[in-house]
Amino acid sequence: MHRVRETATAMTLELDVPGWRGAMAGQHVDVRLTAEDGYSAQRSYSLASPASMGMPVMGAASERIALTVQVVDDGEVSPYLTEDLEVGDQIELRGPIGNWFVWHPTDTRPVQLVAGGSGLVPLMSMARTHAACGSSAPMRLLVSVRTPADALYADELDRLGPGVEVTRVWTRSGPPAWPGPVGRVSPAQLAASGFAPDDSPRVFVCGPTAFVEAVADALVDLGHDPDLIRTERFGPTGT
Ligand SMILES: Cc1cc2nc3c(=O)[nH]c(=O)nc-3n(C[C@H](O)[C@H](O)[C@H](O)COP(=O)(O)OP(=O)(O)OC[C@H]3O[C@@H](n4cnc5c(N)ncnc54)[C@H](O)[C@@H]3O)c2cc1C
Repeated sequence: MHRVRETATAMTLELDVPGWRGAMAGQHVDVRLTAEDGYSAQRSYSLASPASMGMPVMGAASERIALTVQVVDDGEVSPYLTEDLEVGDQIELRGPIGNWFVWHPTDTRPVQLVAGGSGLVPLMSMARTHAACGSSAPMRLLVSVRTPADALYADELDRLGPGVEVTRVWTRSGPPAWPGPVGRVSPAQLAASGFAPDDSPRVFVCGPTAFVEAVADALVDLGHDPDLIRTERFGPTGT
C-alpha cells in the first residue's frame, strides 16, 4: 500500500489487489474491516484510478487500485482507513461494483461531470480514463469545493489539458483575490459551465445526497434529458 495525502482530511490509498481484473470508470468497491472480536463494518469507496476495462485498446489490468477517502468526523471506517491503516495490513475488498454510474470511453457523446466534495473521486476516474485513452468526447467538469484547502487533485485538475474543461465553485471561500461568487452551485453556473441540453451530453453527478438532488433537479429544469443524467449519492449530509 502507498498513501498520498490529498488534503488535511483526505488520503489516497494505492492498494495492491492480487487477482484484480480491472474496472470501468465510475465503479466502486466495498471495503470491509473486521475487528479481532469479529465486529465488522463495510463501506463503499469509488475507484479513483483510471479504467482498465472497456478501453478502446485493452492493456493488461494493473493489480494496483487507488481509493481516495475523505474523513467523516466520528465515522467508523473513514478515520481508520486514512489514519490507522498501515503498509502490510490486509483489508477485505469486494468489487468492482456498479454498472450504471459508468462512463464508457468508446462513447463520443459530450460528457458533463458535476462533483460535490469527495464526489469528485469517481468523476476523476472518468477524467483520468479520458486522458489515458485520448478520448475525443468533449468533457467538462464542474467541481464544488468548500475552500482551496479542501480541493482534491488540485494540481492534476489544472493539468488535465484542453480535452477536459474544469470549472470550480467555492462554497465557503475561494483562493486569494478570487473574482467570482462564493456559494452553492447555482442553475446559472450549471448552464454557463456545462453543455447545452441541445448537445445531449451524458451527465454524471456525484456527491452528498442533498447536493446530488439539487443539481439533478436543476439540470432537468434547464432542459436536460433525465435519461442522460446519472447520479451517485455518497452520504446523508448536505454540503
Ligand atoms: C457508491 C459509494 C461510493 C462512495 N465513494 C466514496 C469515496 O470515493 N470517498 C469517500 O470518502 N467516501 C465515499 N463514499 C462514502 C463512504 O462509503 C462512507 O459513507 C464514508 O466514508 C463515511 O463512513 P464512516 O464509516 O467513516 O462514517 P459512519 O460511521 O458511517 O458515519 C458517521 C456519521 O457521519 C455521517 N455520514 C456518513 N457518511 C457520510 C458522508 N459521506 N458524508 C458526510 N457524513 C456522512 C453519518 O450519518 C454519521 O452521522 C461512497 C459511498 C457510496 C454509497
